[in-house]
Amino acid sequence: MNNLKNIPSMDEILNHSEVDGLIKKYNRGFVLRAARQVVTTMRGELRQYPEELGKDQIMPMLIGKLINSIENLSRPTLQHVINGTGVVLHTNLGRAPLGEKALFYLMQMGGRYNNLEMDLEKGERGSRYGHVEELIRAITGAEAALVVNNNAAAVMLGLTTLGKNREVIVSRGQLVEIGGAFRIPEVMKLSGARLVEVGTTNKTYLADYAQAITEETALLFSAHTSNYKIVGFSAEVKIEELVALGRERNLPVMQDLGSGILLPLEQWGLREEPTVQECIASGVDVLTFSGDKLLGGPQAGIIAGKKEYIEAMKNNQLLRALRVDKLTIAALEGTLLEYLAGNPMQNIPVLRMLSSDIGELRKRSMRLKRKLQAKLKDHPRIESLKSVVLEDMVGGGAFPTHKLPGHGVEIRFRGINLEEVALRLRRSRPALLTRKQENSMLISVRTLLDREEDSIVELLAEVISR
Ligand SMILES: *Cc1c(COP(=O)(O)O)cnc(C)c1O
Repeated sequence: MNNLKNIPSMDEILNHSEVDGLIKKYNRGFVLRAARQVVTTMRGELRQYPEELGKDQIMPMLIGKLINSIENLSRPTLQHVINGTGVVLHTNLGRAPLGEKALFYLMQMGGRYNNLEMDLEKGERGSRYGHVEELIRAITGAEAALVVNNNAAAVMLGLTTLGKNREVIVSRGQLVEIGGAFRIPEVMKLSGARLVEVGTTNKTYLADYAQAITEETALLFSAHTSNYKIVGFSAEVKIEELVALGRERNLPVMQDLGSGILLPLEQWGLREEPTVQECIASGVDVLTFSGDKLLGGPQAGIIAGKKEYIEAMKNNQLLRALRVDKLTIAALEGTLLEYLAGNPMQNIPVLRMLSSDIGELRKRSMRLKRKLQAKLKDHPRIESLKSVVLEDMVGGGAFPTHKLPGHGVEIRFRGINLEEVALRLRRSRPALLTRKQENSMLISVRTLLDREEDSIVELLAEVISR
């Protein structure tokens, strides 16, 4: 069927009253490009179309597609997702949601000039790296500190500054991939340091490190295995022992902590990982950790440790490519200030979620269930709605085997596929990400933020009523 001849010309399209409206509202060049794109797509579709269509039929189809395409493009793709998964540090969902103080500084500094690189005392150029250094030192007890784009950058900067063209000794049990393609051996290769593997996958002893030290050795390196854990017949060298060996042989020790907690979380059952302060106190020369994992701040990589090594990193040209923006500094300062005063367990969202007690979570899941019931009780597509006990996760590669006792709502549907409901929820605005367990949908309340409960009720009612 030759429908192509009935596709309106670009002039006809642009003169159409609805397109005229679009051109008044949006950038003209943008509308034009979108219209050309829609025409190209329609040519393909109409070629296959079994019946003959007149221009008066094609025009409204075309205009509809154009409006859709423009509306899609003119909305930001980065959008609000309600996290109903119960995974607190969900890397796919932007990791740590920021607290109020961080958001406040972010807004204040984002829209104004500031002293990012100005020493206001002297009226001269200053350093952007000076801003959070004092705070990090005060909180961690480290001699010096430096903040870069993320922890991967921190590890890279540390390895290349201290180990380039020389040997860095690492346990085979720590040659891990963290996710998002961060692999210790690859990072090592990129840094220009030569990796010297010691021990075996499950067991490495101090003697293995000691025997591998040569004239060429620059650094002893230890990586937290984060999202992975060897259980059973296994042994790793304690960081204190590695530090003692480093002292004895005059070699620095660098530890990639990954998550990096600034407060002991034992009270909440999270006791397997040392705090940043403990690592610094044990004498590690260079410690790296993320800003947006358990610290609860923006994406950043924090390097804390001995002044001589941090200074060397500050003088490395690579730092220019890894440097942090004013927005990061503002949000990080806002987050770190919560650790100095006030109540970080309450004011930093990640810590608040991790420390929510089960009674509180239960109350919230009962409330969500009641709200859902009030709206959906007699809905033909709801089979059952229950408040249930479930297990949440820390996420972000921290405490990988630790299950947090949680609470949530379990929903069973009828006459509609569970996957279909989940897909519609992901497509909604805001999107809602849920968990699946056999034939039911689970929504954990631990990771819900203020006012998201009511949105969940609205969203669910909407998607199952279509
Ligand atoms: C998460 C993690 C990284 C990467 O940190 P980013 O801040 O995501 O770059 C590196 N090492 C370890 C051990 C980690 O857990």
